[in-house]
Amino acid sequence: MRKKVVAGNWKCNTTVAEGIALAKEVNDKVTAQDVVVVLGTPFTHITEVVKTVTNKAISVAAQNCAAEAKGAFTGEVSAAMVASTGAKYVILGHSERREYYGETSAILNKKLALALENNLTPIYCCGEALAIREAGTQNEYVINQLKETIFTLSVEDFKKIIIAYEPIWAIGTGKTATTEQAQEMHKAIRDAIAAQFGNEVAQETSILYGGSCNAQNAQELFANPDVDGGLIGGASLKAGDFNIIINAF
Ligand code: PEP
Repeated sequence: MRKKVVAGNWKCNTTVAEGIALAKEVNDKVTAQDVVVVLGTPFTHITEVVKTVTNKAISVAAQNCAAEAKGAFTGEVSAAMVASTGAKYVILGHSERREYYGETSAILNKKLALALENNLTPIYCCGEALAIREAGTQNEYVINQLKETIFTLSVEDFKKIIIAYEPIWAIGTGKTATTEQAQEMHKAIRDAIAAQFGNEVAQETSILYGGSCNAQNAQELFANPDVDGGLIGGASLKAGDFNIIINAF
């Protein structure tokens, strides 16, 4: 059975001390046994958050990794470095990284390969901008993002991927996709996986929704048959709200 996953993306928020306090609060609140909980912290926090988290349901993620293995790339943090902290996941292809840092499919393919080589589970983000949604071409756009990246992986590597569908117009805007819009896209993604890798693989792939998912709307979103959890930005910074989302299945 595919895993239910709730992953927090703290983005560029919290000092190390604040991050440890937040991780401790989440650690102490979470009682769900059947949900994989992931804390996507800034690089600077990972080692301390890994030490703080004792709850077996919770793992830690980086929000990015370098596209190169190592060397003269000032300011970059490699996948091997991330793995050496004890983090088990890495968020890749977030729309903010694509938009503000020029991450293309070619760059993402290098990051995906390095993450997998270092036994990190990629949480691969995809999603369309508002203009694409308004033009009605969102399904083709998102499936093309997959075709250019994770669909080029071997089936064995693809099985390690978690997908997060995040409509860009819903991220941090307070505007959520309707439950129908989320389900329609998640089903389109699962159908595309089935066409590429077979139905058994498609049924086992966790597809998360992201975009203003919060304590009020998570239950409705997670009730959709093809929504297997969420990638949560703003609401992951409040342990109480984040725990409500974790319990929303
Ligand atoms: C995100 O950054 O992945 C996200 C979904 O943010 P928010 O929940 O704040 O919209």
